[in-house]
Formats: sequence, C-alpha cells, structure tokens
Amino acid sequence: MVNDASPAIVILDVNKNNVPVDRTSVGLADEKPEKWSVVKWNPAGPIPRRISQQNLPLTYGVCPHCRARAELSDNAFSLECPECKKTSEVDWVNTC
Ligand SMILES: [Zn+2]
Repeated sequence: MVNDASPAIVILDVNKNNVPVDRTSVGLADEKPEKWSVVKWNPAGPIPRRISQQNLPLTYGVCPHCRARAELSDNAFSLECPECKKTSEVDWVNTC
C-alpha cells in the first residue's frame, strides 16, 4: 500500500486512497519540538475536564521539555517554564 520508491514523495494510505504528501510534512514525530506548543480551546465549544480541573486558561502552552502547561501572555515571544525553568520560544504559528 505504501510506495516509498520516490525520495521526495511518500504515499500515505488514507481511507484506501493513495495521497501524495511532501516528505517534509510527515515524520514530524521524529523531531523534538523546541518551542512551546500553543493550545487554544474554542470558548463556544465543550471545555475538556482537565481544563476546568486544573484551572487552565483557554489558551495555554505546553513545555517542549517537560510537557508542563503554563498560561501564555498574548503573543509572548518566549516563556520560561514554571516547572523546568527552561526558556523556549512560543510557537504561535501551529496552534491546536
Ligand atoms: Zn518545562
């Protein structure tokens, strides 16, 4: 199902359709993120229990080093982790 003959293109078997994907957009699991991941919840949507339990804001960052969650100031360029004290840039581009 997976044709790996071409060096630049990988074929993903998605719902039995072969979808060509640029190799740079896959395999991200191998790369360790060195930036805070930004998580944004839609205020109109259902709020997950862990958000209300841990009293997290609707927008928070996940530390790339220790996965701690921390409140983000608006458009903060970098943030020091309250847990591991490492300062990392904030990845505002790829919010989820
Ligand atoms: Zn940390």
